[in-house]
Amino acid sequence: MSFESSCDETSVAIIENGDKILSNVVATQIKSHKRFGGVVPEVASRHHIEEITICIRDAMQQADVTYDDLDAVAVTYGPGLVGALLIGVTAAKMVAWAHHLPLIPVNHLAGHIYAARFEKPIQFPALSLVVSGGHTELVYMPKEGQFEIIGETRDDAAGEAYDKVGRVMGINYPAGPTVDAMAAKGHDTFNFPRAMDKEANYDFSFSGLKSAFINTYHHADQIGEKLNHDDLAASFQAAVVDVLVDKTMRALKNYPVNQLILAGGVAANNGLRTRLQSAIDKLPQTELLMAPKKLCGDNAAMIGAAGYVLYKEGHFAGLDLNADPSLEFEWSPDVEQ
Ligand code: ATP
Ligand code: MG
Ligand code: FE
Repeated sequence: MSFESSCDETSVAIIENGDKILSNVVATQIKSHKRFGGVVPEVASRHHIEEITICIRDAMQQADVTYDDLDAVAVTYGPGLVGALLIGVTAAKMVAWAHHLPLIPVNHLAGHIYAARFEKPIQFPALSLVVSGGHTELVYMPKEGQFEIIGETRDDAAGEAYDKVGRVMGINYPAGPTVDAMAAKGHDTFNFPRAMDKEANYDFSFSGLKSAFINTYHHADQIGEKLNHDDLAASFQAAVVDVLVDKTMRALKNYPVNQLILAGGVAANNGLRTRLQSAIDKLPQTELLMAPKKLCGDNAAMIGAAGYVLYKEGHFAGLDLNADPSLEFEWSPDVEQ
């Protein structure tokens, strides 16, 4: 059984052998956060408390299992909102204690990467592009359980930028999927900046792009000019995708790998998936492994997939496991072996 509650999704899944989903119940709180234009931590915690036992029940019913069928309990213990994480961690500890099951502590970002495991096995060395609501990172993985961050965003995360420009255009949180759909209908006519694209590092920056977008939008508003929203979306997306693809391809030159893994909420983006696929098609030695679209956002199945690897390696936590809101990107640093 696996748990995810780091942000605004309460999720419980039952996974068999790390790659078969028996159930994956996701209770999203989008409706409650929509009117604030983003996630309100206190509201998130309250929802997790209300939803978690219902998710446990539904996940077990859908998978048709009893507690006797379970081998271990995996849970996201960071990074994320502390009050939100604590609900999942406490629920997981409760199940582990009551049913004498080992407890597996999982890093949320490792979970995002291992969502790709439901597509096919990961082959190391691999490079992961993790693009989500809170992170934009290039992670080199020489072998299972080793993560080396070789590049990251200096300011906004890609998903955060999508949500902010979407909000300016009057699109509800989370704006990513809608902006993606609008971009498919528009054209890249605004020529927004591609920040840090030519710099010799693997870092990203999206706040300049966000400001350029907002300035363009407000300036047009002031002079009473109506801008085409689809073209705005297409121009924004082209700038984001250009930088993500360019930096990733440059990283692959110095880090030759068997697989490039695309993961995180923004990995569901159609423009990014298509562009990355055609770029990787030109590299015969590297294959692109993308998390299935419906498993890109937060869910417990991905936590179960990462947890299974830790389970096989015997990485368990004690019942004193605590939530760590700013957990570093490591496999499982504070575990008992
Ligand atoms: P983190 O994983 O960094 O802690 P998070 O869990 O909040 O943050 P995710 O759930 O992985 O983030 O991803 C949510 C983000 O993905 C939101 O910002 C959302 O707008 C974005 N997103 C979802 N679908 C798409 C899409 N098709 N195109 C672009 N962005 C998208
Ligand atoms: Mg979310
Ligand atoms: Fe996430």
